[in-house]
Order: sequence, then C-alpha cells, then structure tokens
Amino acid sequence: MNSQPAMNPFDEAVSLAHQSLAGLRENASGPQPRASRAALERLATAPLTSPVSKTATVPETSEPLPSSPAPSSNKAERLDQFRVQVLPCEKCPQLVASRTHVVFGVGNPEAELMFVGEAPGADEDLQGEPFVGKAGQLLTKIIEAMGFARSDVYIANVLKCRPDMPPGERGNRKPRPEEMATCLPYLIQQIEIIQPKCLVALGATAMEGLLGEPVVMREVRSRWHTFKGIPLMATYHPAYLLRNQSMSEKRKVWEDMLMVMEKLGCPISAKQRGYFLKK
Ligand code: URA
Repeated sequence: MNSQPAMNPFDEAVSLAHQSLAGLRENASGPQPRASRAALERLATAPLTSPVSKTATVPETSEPLPSSPAPSSNKAERLDQFRVQVLPCEKCPQLVASRTHVVFGVGNPEAELMFVGEAPGADEDLQGEPFVGKAGQLLTKIIEAMGFARSDVYIANVLKCRPDMPPGERGNRKPRPEEMATCLPYLIQQIEIIQPKCLVALGATAMEGLLGEPVVMREVRSRWHTFKGIPLMATYHPAYLLRNQSMSEKRKVWEDMLMVMEKLGCPISAKQRGYFLKK
C-alpha cells in the first residue's frame, strides 16, 4: 500500500521536473538538448514581460502551461536561421560582383499576407530591405489602405540581389528568367516557413518568376491562382501606378486588393469599397 500523502499540483510539477533533469544527467552520453545561437541571443536580450516574485504562489485555477514553444517563435527562428544561410549566397557571380546587400525580405514571420516583388532596386540594394524606394512607399500606402501596418505583412522579392547594370548605366534592368529560377527556391522556403494565407505578386515579372513562364498582366490579374497550395493574386507593380496615375488603373489594383481582403476575411468598410471610384 502507498502510504505517501497525495502531492499538491505544485510539488508534483517540481517532482516531475526533478525526475526529467535526473534522466538527462544519467543519459549524458546520449543526445543533448540543443538551442540555436539565434534562440540563445534572443533569450539573452529578451525583456522580462512580468516581474518574477519570490513569494508568488501558483493559483489553483491557472491554465496548464503550454507543452511546446509557441509556433510564432518557431517561425521567427526558422526565418532568422534561413536568412543567415541566404545572405552569403554566391550563385550568380555577376550579381555578387555588383550588389551591396542580399535583400532577404522584411516583415512579420506570422504574416497572413505576403507580397512578392521582382528584384531589389538601387534603394533596396543600399538599405538591404525590399520596397523602400518610391514604389515601396506606394506599396506601404496600399497596405495601410487595406487596414494593415507594413509590419503586419511580409514582403520579399523573387530575386534577392539587384540586377547588375552595364558599367556607367543608371536605372534598373528586368531580372533574367535564369536568375529568377536560381533564386526561386529561397522564396519558396520563405513561403513554406511563413505559410501565409494569401500571396500577392506585384507585376508581371514577379508572376513570371513564380510561375516560370511569361504572363500578360491584364490576363492574369484580378483572379485567383495557386502557388504551392496558397491562393495567389496578381496585380500591377506599384512602379506602374507611379508611371500611370489614372484613377482607373489605381482602381484596378484596389479591386485586386479588395479580393485579397475578402479572401483573408478582413472587415471592409463602405469607404474602403469606394476608393478610386469616379464620384
Ligand atoms: N521593385 C521590386 O520589385 N522590388 C523591390 O524591392 C523594389 C522595387
């Protein structure tokens, strides 16, 4: 007969933790618990969200502790680790020779919405962040008009390096199909980590990079495609809207974004529905 008194839940938890630690020590020759450098650095610098009281007691009604780490930290960590692998990429020697930064991507690792552009321009190459130039500022306005902050979504390009220009020439060139095909596995891995609910391809070149074949924007925009099982909307590149400022073109992009908001289940106000309609 077991004559030991029943333990309270707190003592039971301490006893379990003690047994687990003793087990780890006994199996010291077996696989050891590991944490990535990125995780350790985050832990070292993370602020305590609530002060720890020495006299705190565990309330009887407290929720059970989660048994595994929150998925959010997992996605952020996986993306951080992947970024470290991609930054030294040297697959395209002509791009390596001319680039300042590999422009990996920016935003929320938990994003439901991910925008995909074609390649970094001069501003992005200098700053190491996608869509920070004039077209990027317009993209940020579009994101905000949808009711998101730029930091809510994830933004990346098919090609992670700025396409090189002939010596002395200014401007941008379109990424070559073989450059995009070489870089596409990086974007696919980003999408697999983030698992957004919706992808938006910005411009025909980004769409071509994703599909691996040329497209005509007026034929592919405003309807749903699928990429790796994720709904994909194609719309005009913000740089196109900067060149073509007519209400009708702005409205086309906005209608595409309304479809995206509907797909994501976002609330849409009457005011939002009416943007860029002729009064
Ligand atoms: N255009 C793109 O397609 N991507 C950028 O990052 C900037 C401009």
